Amino acid sequence: MADELIGVWLLLLAGRSPDEQHALLQSLGCLSRRGRADRMGVIRLLDRIYQSLVDQGAPPRMPEAGTSSALANFPTEASAVPGGREPLTHQLARLQVHALVNAGYLEQDACRLEPDAVRAWWADVLPKVTAIHDQHNQIFAALAEVRAQAKAKAGQRTDPITCPLCGRPAPRGATYCVWCGRWLAAPRI
Ligand SMILES: [Zn+2]
Repeated sequence: MADELIGVWLLLLAGRSPDEQHALLQSLGCLSRRGRADRMGVIRLLDRIYQSLVDQGAPPRMPEAGTSSALANFPTEASAVPGGREPLTHQLARLQVHALVNAGYLEQDACRLEPDAVRAWWADVLPKVTAIHDQHNQIFAALAEVRAQAKAKAGQRTDPITCPLCGRPAPRGATYCVWCGRWLAAPRI
């Protein structure tokens, strides 16, 4: 990854689902005209890179609500793990940056950063990142509740439904796909 795209890398690292990653890139003006015009194209691409890592043995992940405090301590140094094995989450975000560049989805001039400006930039965008994080926390928490309710009701089907847009499983009864952000039809029980 070109070091000057570390801002994009950080935003991708902060997003817990392709939907949230897309929202972060969009909000910070990192998407090109092409990227802005093709929301699902961006989401599918991010998902495809994620899936390829899972196919290679990486553990699948389910977006979960969490605190925003971790965001403040993000690894704003590109070489945060000198000599160490790159964490999978870092690797995923790096591969996603590559893929977005290759697909022409990034407004590269708008999100290019000098290495010594990264820390200040992150502090600057943190309120926006936190707002999107909090918004998605509500979605993730609501989905977890739907999942728990379905489990608690004896005799009710708990097998997941499939999102018709991105193909990811969503809990039965959910009205929203946590992965791509699509509103789902009323539950069929
Ligand atoms: Zn979906």
